[in-house]
Amino acid sequence: KPRLLSGMQPSAESLHLGNYVGALLSWLNLQESHEAFYMLADLHAITVPQHPAELRENSRRTVAQYIAAGIDPARSTLFVQSHVPAHAELAWVLNTITGFGEAARMTQFKDKSAKNADSTSVGLFTYPILQAGDILLYQAAEVPVGEDQRQHIELTRDLANRFNSRFGDTFAVPEPYILKSTAKLYDLQNPGSKMSKSAESKAGVIWMLDEPSVTKKKIMRAVTDADGGIVYDPENKAGVSNLLTIFSVLGGQSIASLESEFAGRGYGDLKKALADVVIEMVEPIRARTLELLDDPAELDRILAAAADRANEVAEQTLDTVYDRVGFLRRQ
Ligand code: ATP
Ligand code: MG
Repeated sequence: KPRLLSGMQPSAESLHLGNYVGALLSWLNLQESHEAFYMLADLHAITVPQHPAELRENSRRTVAQYIAAGIDPARSTLFVQSHVPAHAELAWVLNTITGFGEAARMTQFKDKSAKNADSTSVGLFTYPILQAGDILLYQAAEVPVGEDQRQHIELTRDLANRFNSRFGDTFAVPEPYILKSTAKLYDLQNPGSKMSKSAESKAGVIWMLDEPSVTKKKIMRAVTDADGGIVYDPENKAGVSNLLTIFSVLGGQSIASLESEFAGRGYGDLKKALADVVIEMVEPIRARTLELLDDPAELDRILAAAADRANEVAEQTLDTVYDRVGFLRRQ
């Protein structure tokens, strides 16, 4: 089976709907056909300031959400990045073959550092290089992510090719796996930006652990426009188009059929119907997450077994890398 790697950061108290439809849904579909490694990206999370107690809590919650959404720890390796030292180690080697200007072109860094100019760290700058290492350690053939990660996967491919041509064939060159229809959900209050865990205001973010009444309120208050028509037009009607996208993915109905169903009706009608669809999808996952969190010892057991498996694969790749770059072998 081809290998697969993907991850999410425990950078908030919950995953959001964008993480779910943009990435987790693909993870679920691919775990049958692939040997999947699904990572809790805690090394990535500390590239912006985190409170230690919250980070620990958010890490367990994120893992519980993976499982509640349907990731099966018996089939997929669901592991914690910091449990596998090779991630930090390979990142160092890749740092040394990455151009400074090349790293400086990454748009996620530009966005995140602009939002947080005071706390911008070197770690945030080198984040994509750590991410490249995450993927290359597992010789992943595919990487299921949202559209926002396309540039980072491109960098990963460049680094893999560069290392291979300089030091000999070592890494598989991965392909991004990005589904067009769900690749990017936007913030409900600010439909010009993607829905993000690290958004300044959380009013436009639908958390997978929100109570149904909160979800409903957020959807009812979503920003639309004064024009009134329920049509898909991302350029001129970003807010309404985003609502239609969410409705279409979760309701399993095409956008065209939604447009005709809601023709001549008001935004309130669309929002009410959408809230029902979202809650129906999210609520069972929330309930299951809370149940799983009641048994942290079981979660820890799953993570320990996965760490063994992940280390086994990652150490093998790192060994080859150290050998190829010319480090003395430890006898
Ligand atoms: P942060 O703001 O801390 O970076 P995030 O919301 O971007 O958090 P990540 O953990 O960085 O979440 O990303 C996890 C996965 O979710 C990635 O595959 C990413 O491409 C995907 N993703 C994130 N936001 C969206 C979105 N708005 N729509 C679709 N996919 C998304
Ligand atoms: Mg992100």
